[in-house]
Amino acid sequence: MTQAPSQEGTLPTAAAEVAGICSDLLRIDTTNEGEGKGRPERPAAEHIAVLLDEVGVDPVIAESAPGRANVLARVPGTDPDAPAFLIHGHMDVVPADPGEWSVHPFSGEVRDGYLWGRGAVDMKGTLAMTLATVRQRLREGRRTRGDLVLAFLADEECTGDYGSRHVVGEHADFFTGVEEAISESGGFSVTAAPGTRVYPIATGERGSAWMRLTARGVAGHGSKPAADNAVAELCHAISRLASYQWPVRLTPGVRRLLDGLGEALGAPIDHDRLDAEARRLGLVGRLFAGTIRNSANPTRLDAGYKVNVIPGSAYAQVDGRVLPGLSEEFFATVDRLLGPKITREFINHEQAIAADADGPTFAALAGALRAEDAAAHPVPYVMSGGTDAKAFARIGIRSFGFAPLLLGPELDYQAMFHGVDERVPVAGLEFGTRVLDRFLDTR
Ligand SMILES: [Zn+2]
Repeated sequence: MTQAPSQEGTLPTAAAEVAGICSDLLRIDTTNEGEGKGRPERPAAEHIAVLLDEVGVDPVIAESAPGRANVLARVPGTDPDAPAFLIHGHMDVVPADPGEWSVHPFSGEVRDGYLWGRGAVDMKGTLAMTLATVRQRLREGRRTRGDLVLAFLADEECTGDYGSRHVVGEHADFFTGVEEAISESGGFSVTAAPGTRVYPIATGERGSAWMRLTARGVAGHGSKPAADNAVAELCHAISRLASYQWPVRLTPGVRRLLDGLGEALGAPIDHDRLDAEARRLGLVGRLFAGTIRNSANPTRLDAGYKVNVIPGSAYAQVDGRVLPGLSEEFFATVDRLLGPKITREFINHEQAIAADADGPTFAALAGALRAEDAAAHPVPYVMSGGTDAKAFARIGIRSFGFAPLLLGPELDYQAMFHGVDERVPVAGLEFGTRVLDRFLDTR
């Protein structure tokens, strides 16, 4: 039911079929539980491959493990000398507990103008916009100048080992000549004031430093005086780390965002009291609250096996996030806080990434938004977390977070990511197809 009803002889537009495509994708459960567990992406990949095949694209389904499928396609452009452009997105979603939801998270139901379901915003809505827009353009014979490369990926909600990391390693030939890309987490509207909508376009991400900490001590009987208790040592270290106030560090990307927001709001943001400003500005404030400093949150603890035994070691995991250029300061601080008795190793370590907020691609993205929304104020912003963009950065591709959506002021969009009752307005998706289409006209 991806084809919207159409008159005999007329072709469905992207706006007409985007909700149907999204609904179909939402009904395919692609839950990623991490550590290789969950529902594999293969059925979604096959569905997407059919949608591409229908408009003459010849996609490849590349599996990284049984069922862990990625869809790759390269649509030839009209000018072999023009740079290729990539749109990438992930097919997997985080788990959803139906008991907590108002509608079943895998029903793909439309209610009150919204499409409900796990993945509606993260990020099957964006996949649907991409597919609908590309399908309309190809049906109308409108190609981009450079090749348009499409990558629908597995495993973004874990490490990307079965998805983005796999394809940049094993299928790098698909991305030859690609310098820039768009993907999730940007381009959505945030109502800053009546009639003023800020559209953050992601031009960077903090780096990831996921660490496993180990405290070693002397094992012994729980009733005896402890010589060197690993559990206590780890708790002290974690307490120092968790209560540390990371200093504000304004990187160039965040400075640009603050300038843009000040312009949109008609009053500058006070750089000397950014935490208070973030709270005052609500949804707009959240665009920078998570990127004005490094962070290191303890997330797991593991020690001991019996109440009357002091274990010889204790473990913790910490989610560290590092602003561009601040790695050295981050690790020096972490080591000082942990102290000499704690050792650390990486579970995952990736550098911060950045795209060009002053180049023609950013200008084209911003222009496409302004053309469809007269109240649009596009601003560059930095993401506090990470996406598949980091894997593509390894092969020299700079990604912009751009999944255009027009949202009403009532929807807390960022709470939708991995949230209960995740949903996306149908009109917002339709808007997104028009913006994407305009942008692709510039490629
Ligand atoms: Zn996502």
